[in-house]
Amino acid sequence: MVRVSGPRAGTALEKLIGRVPQPRKATLARVRDPASGEIIDEALALWFPAPASETGEDVAELQLHGGHAVIAGVLDALGRIEGCRPAEAGEFTRRAFENGRLDLTEIEGLADLIAAETQAQRRQAYRQLKGLIGDRAENWRRRLIEALALIEARIDFSDEADVPEHLVEPALQAAQQLRDEIAASLAGAGRGERLREGLVVAIAGPPNAGKSTLLNRLAQREAAIVSPYPGTTRDVIEVHLDLGGYPVSLLDTAGIRDSDDPVEQEGVRRARERAGAADLVLWVTDLSASGAVNLRPDESLRASEVWLLENKADLATGKPCARNESRSEELVNHLFTISARTGAGMDVLIGALADYAKRYFSETESTLVTRARHRRALEETVAALDRALSQSASGREELIAEELRAAATTLGRLTGRVDVEDILDVIFRDFCIGK
Ligand code: GDP
Repeated sequence: MVRVSGPRAGTALEKLIGRVPQPRKATLARVRDPASGEIIDEALALWFPAPASETGEDVAELQLHGGHAVIAGVLDALGRIEGCRPAEAGEFTRRAFENGRLDLTEIEGLADLIAAETQAQRRQAYRQLKGLIGDRAENWRRRLIEALALIEARIDFSDEADVPEHLVEPALQAAQQLRDEIAASLAGAGRGERLREGLVVAIAGPPNAGKSTLLNRLAQREAAIVSPYPGTTRDVIEVHLDLGGYPVSLLDTAGIRDSDDPVEQEGVRRARERAGAADLVLWVTDLSASGAVNLRPDESLRASEVWLLENKADLATGKPCARNESRSEELVNHLFTISARTGAGMDVLIGALADYAKRYFSETESTLVTRARHRRALEETVAALDRALSQSASGREELIAEELRAAATTLGRLTGRVDVEDILDVIFRDFCIGK
C-alpha cells in the first residue's frame, strides 16, 4: 500500500488515477504514469479527506500488487508531482500527533502493538492505543488544574470581600485524592513494563551441564551453540518465548566458572550481571558429573526465584552422587529432573514456566504504566503533589500553586500536551517508514 498525506494528496490521486474517488469507498482504478500515460498497475484507491483521516490531513491510499517494479513506478510517478516527497520514518504518526489525532501514550501503544510478539503484549498495547493511560492522565490533569484555579483565585482576589475564604481547603483535598490515585496506579508499574519487555529467565550453572542444550530445547531451534567442550558459550544468548501468551526472554549465560582467559572472563562477568538481574534463574546441574563440578548458585544470583534443574537424567540412572550438594541449597525454590537431550521431564518444566509467567502477569490486566517514561512522569507528579500538600500548614498559597502547576506540567508531558519536543524524537525513532 502506498499512502499519501497532506494538502497535495488529492492532486496526487488526480494525476495517477485521473480522479478523486468518493470518500472512504474502495474504488478500482488504473494507475498511470502521469508523464507517459502508461498503465503501471490496477489498484484499489481510497480517499480520506481531512480532518477525518489517520493523520488529520487529506490522505490517499493505493493498494497495489506490490512487486518491486510496481512500487518503484508509483513512487517515481509520485516523486515527480510538485510538493510530494517520500515520508520519513514515523512521519504519518507524527503528523497524527501534531494534528491532535493521537496523544503520546497512544503513539507508544501503536508502536508496542506493531512490536507485540505475544497475545498478552498485544492486549496491553491495544489498551494503551485506545487511550487507557492517556485518558486517565488527562482526567488527572484537568482535576489538578481545577484545584490550581481555586488556589489562584484565592491569591488573585484575596483583597476582595466577596471571594470566599475556603478555596484552599477543597483544593488541597482534591490534591490529596489525586496523589493517592496516581500513587496507586504506580503499584503495578513494574509488571506493565515487564510485559512489554518480557520476563527475564536466566539459564545458569556450571560449564557443560547442558545449558545451551536446554535453551535449544526450550526454544525449539538451534539458538545457542551446543558443544561438548566447556566454556564455549562466551556471550549471553537471548531468545524470546511465548509461554501461554506471555513473553519470556530466556538467557543462556556463559558457563559460570573462574577462568584465566580474558575473553572468557568477560563472558563470565556478563553472565553474572544478566543472571543477577533475572526474575527467575534456572540453575542447571549435571547429574552424571561428580559432586565437585556441580557448584551451587551463588549470592550474585539475586533473582526472585531459583529453580534447580538436574540435567542428563538419561545418564544418571542409579548415580545419586551429584544430587545432595545443591539440593539442600536454601536458595532453591523448585527442583526438576530433566534430560535436555532426550526431552524427558521437559513438559513438566515448560508447564511450570508457563504457570510462573501467568502468575507473574496475572495482575497486569489493569496495569496502566507500561514504560519507564510513564512511571517517571507519574512519580514526579506524586512528588510535586506531596510538596504541595506539605505546604498546606504553612498557608503559603503561592508555593502550593507552584507545586500544583509543576504536577500538571509533568502530567501534560506524559500525554504530550506540553513541552515535549525533546522526547518526540525518542518515541518516533522506533517507527518505520509508512507508519
Ligand atoms: P553448557 O556448557 O552448560 O551450555 O552445556 P551444553 O549444552 O553445551 O552441553 C554440554 C554437553 O552435554 C554436550 O555434549 C551436550 O550434548 C551434553 N548434554 C546436554 N544435555 C544432556 C542430557 O540431558 N543428556 C546427555 N546425555 N547429554 C547432555
